[in-house]
Amino acid sequence: MLPDDPRHGTRAGFYAHRKDGETACARCRRAAATYEAMRQAGKITPEIPAFGTVRRIQALMALGYTTNEIAARAGLSGSHVRMLAQQRSVYGEVASKVDAAYEALSGTVPTPTPTREWLRERATRCRYLPPLAWDDIDDPNERPSFGDAAEGPFDPIVVERILGGDWTLRATKSERWEVIERWSGSDNELERRTGWNVARDRREMRASTCDTTEAA
Ligand SMILES: [Zn+2]
Repeated sequence: MLPDDPRHGTRAGFYAHRKDGETACARCRRAAATYEAMRQAGKITPEIPAFGTVRRIQALMALGYTTNEIAARAGLSGSHVRMLAQQRSVYGEVASKVDAAYEALSGTVPTPTPTREWLRERATRCRYLPPLAWDDIDDPNERPSFGDAAEGPFDPIVVERILGGDWTLRATKSERWEVIERWSGSDNELERRTGWNVARDRREMRASTCDTTEAA
């Protein structure tokens, strides 16, 4: 495992070392031992889906909070928060900590700084939705319609209608990208039917995939 891997000092890091055929470093060994002790003491809450946690972290980043600030409020490490943003499941107690940070921070837009501006721009590019975009941030079926001005609103009905054969229906970029993602035929065929520039959309779609690395 590379020295700057964010998993060092976590149980995930311990297993990553093993997978690479290495002896785990001291920090990773300690994290694994602590976890095992807690598990044996019945102190580990079960894993739950991570989407609510991921949405909260992204929403705070959309306001301009850095992952280190979110982490400080949550009582977690910055690397842990950056790793969480890419998880599919999360421990209940970790989700509660992120929730507490979200409750504390989501009502306030922090004073702009160059780093915050950069974070906000990236959030727009990555389609991270701010707190106000959500009716219920824990509803797995919610697809926010507004709050993403750069992309235009998203209406799942429009997507269904286009895929159902209403090829020339007007679509926002968010809707177009969803159609392209779900379209099972060739790009040429979709271009012919809709008149869209699918190749250009695909390039943009690739460029907008995001990780949680921070410039500052
Ligand atoms: Zn390690």
